[in-house]
Amino acid sequence: MKLESLKELFVEELKDLYSAENQILKALPKMIKKASSNQLKSGFEEHLEQTRGHVERLEKVFQQLDESPKGKKCKGMEGIITDGAELMEEDAEPDVMDAGLIAAAQRVEHYEIAGYGCVRTYARLLGHSNVVQLLDATLNEEKETDAKLTRLAENVNVEAKEAA
Ligand code: FE
Repeated sequence: MKLESLKELFVEELKDLYSAENQILKALPKMIKKASSNQLKSGFEEHLEQTRGHVERLEKVFQQLDESPKGKKCKGMEGIITDGAELMEEDAEPDVMDAGLIAAAQRVEHYEIAGYGCVRTYARLLGHSNVVQLLDATLNEEKETDAKLTRLAENVNVEAKEAA
């Protein structure tokens, strides 16, 4: 497919994010089960709830643009999630597993932050101010989640270090 305009790239990138968010929606319940720290579990639970909101926001974005969210599989997110799934199959000390889960989750967040940052900028350039607001709201939640994971890692990594 030939991309003729920034608008077309914008829609393609949004489809990628829509696929990514739906993949995260499926992966998070497995991460919740695998986490040992209650704080980490509840952090993932909260982010699962937020992710449902991210999917809904993207659906609103597509509605406003009169475009379909379907038709793309985000291979980048698929790879990040596959890496996480491989980690979860490892036989690991619970604290070490938690540290690994945080690392996997932060990769997810950084990937999303990059994606939302780009589409938010495209939306601004293309003059879709309502869409900018929706994308900004999600971008901020992804950044907050990343910061929260960094704070959690401060304890979890120390416990992982003391595990063996
Ligand atoms: Fe998200």
